[in-house]
Amino acid sequence: MQQTSLSARDQQVIWHPYTQMQTAPPPIAIIRGEGALLFDEAGNSYIDATASWWVNIHGHAHPHIAAKLAQQAYELQHVIFSGFTHPAAVELAERLLPILPGQQQRVFFSDNGSTAVEVALKMALQYWDNKGQRRNKFLAFKNAYHGDTFGAMSVSGRSVFTRVFDELLFEVAFIDLPTADNIQEIIQQIDTVGVNNIAAFIFEPLIQGAGGMLMYEAGPLDKLLHHCKEKNILLIADEVMTGFGRTGKNFAMENCSATPDMICLSKGLTGGSMALGVTTCTSEIYEAFLSNDKLKTLFHGHSFTANPLACAVALASLDLFTAPECMINRQRINLAHQQFMQQLKEYPRIKNARLQGTIIAFDIITDNADGYTNNIAAMLHTYFRECRVMLRPLGNTLYILPPYCITDLQLETVYQSVITLITSHLK
Ligand SMILES: *Cc1c(COP(=O)(O)O)cnc(C)c1O
Repeated sequence: MQQTSLSARDQQVIWHPYTQMQTAPPPIAIIRGEGALLFDEAGNSYIDATASWWVNIHGHAHPHIAAKLAQQAYELQHVIFSGFTHPAAVELAERLLPILPGQQQRVFFSDNGSTAVEVALKMALQYWDNKGQRRNKFLAFKNAYHGDTFGAMSVSGRSVFTRVFDELLFEVAFIDLPTADNIQEIIQQIDTVGVNNIAAFIFEPLIQGAGGMLMYEAGPLDKLLHHCKEKNILLIADEVMTGFGRTGKNFAMENCSATPDMICLSKGLTGGSMALGVTTCTSEIYEAFLSNDKLKTLFHGHSFTANPLACAVALASLDLFTAPECMINRQRINLAHQQFMQQLKEYPRIKNARLQGTIIAFDIITDNADGYTNNIAAMLHTYFRECRVMLRPLGNTLYILPPYCITDLQLETVYQSVITLITSHLK
C-alpha cells in the first residue's frame, strides 16, 4: 500500500495560521533541520531565509540547545510558578536583565510575543491605577504589529488582520512614524490627545516587522521618546522581533538615549526553538505594585509561565548569543546585505531597498496597491518554493532575515534567487 504523505495527512486534520485553507497549496512537510537548512519529507533541502518566522537565530536543531533541553527534561519539566520557582527561571532573569537597555530590574514570564505585550499593557494601566491616577489611553504607531490577542491587536494598526474585530478593539491614538520633518507635528498631536490620559506608548524600535518591514531612523524616534518621558508617558519597547541582534546591536533600543520602562521579548529569546515570552520592567514600575493592599497585585499568569524547558533553552541560546562568533556572523550578514542592496538599485522594478542589521527588505513595483493583499504574493510564494529558498513575501514586500549561522554560499544562493526572479520572472 502506498504511504500517504505527511502534507496530505495534514490537509485532512489541520487548520494553519494566516492561511486561506481552500486555496492554499499543500504545506511543505519539514522533517528535519540543520543550520540554515530545512529538509522536507521527499529529501529536498530549503535555505531558511526568514528564520522560520523571524525566530531562529543560531540555526535549526542546534546541538548545544538540544543538549541543554534534554538535560533540563531529565531534571524538571514544569512547575507552577506562583509560590514556586526553579533554577532556570532565576538564572535566565539574572543573565538577561544586565544585557537589556535601560536599567531593567524585573522579569515577568509568559508564553509568546502577544502575551508579552498583553502583560506590558496591563502593567502600564495598573501602574497608573495603583498610583491613584487615571490614565487609560495608549499611543502607538500606524502600521504597528504587536500580536494577535485582543489587547495586542488593539495597539496594532487596523488592517486586514483586525478588520472583523475592529469594533471590539479599544481605542488607541495612532501616530505616524517620526522623521526629522514631521517630529514637531507628531509631538503636537500627542499633546492634543491629552498627555495626562496616556498610560503608555508602545512601539517597535527601528523596524515595523509585520507592517511590512518598514524601517525608520533612531534620531527622530529618540526625540519622540524623550518627549513622552517628559510627559510621564511610559515607554513599552516591543523588541519581540528586533531583540537578540536582529538590527545590528543586541537590542534596537541601544540606538536611543531614552530608556524604556518595559521591554517585550520573545521570538529569538529561546533561539527560536521554544515558546517563551518575557516582559521586563524598571524598579519604578515594579515598586508601584508593592503594597499591603492585595488589590495592587498584578493579577496575570499562564499555566506555563516560566516553563523550565523553555527557560533552559533560552539560557542555552544566551550562551551562543553572547559568544563572539554570533556578533561576527551578524556583521558578515550585514556586509553581504549591503553589497546586495547596491545590486538591487540597478533594477527599476525594485523600490525602497532598505537595510537594518541582518534584515534587508525591498518592494516590488506592481500595478496593484502596495501591501499585504497585493496579488503578486502568491506568485512569489510558488517561485521561491520551487527555488528551495524559504522566502515569504509580505504582499509585494520581500525581505531576507536569516539565522545568523547562514553561510556565505547559502546567502549568495538566496540573493541569486531574487535576482533571477527580477530578471526572468518580472516582466
Ligand atoms: C511576532 C511579533 C509579536 C507577536 O508575537 P507572537 O509570539 O507571534 O505572539 C509581537 N510584536 C512583534 C514586534 C512581533 O514581531
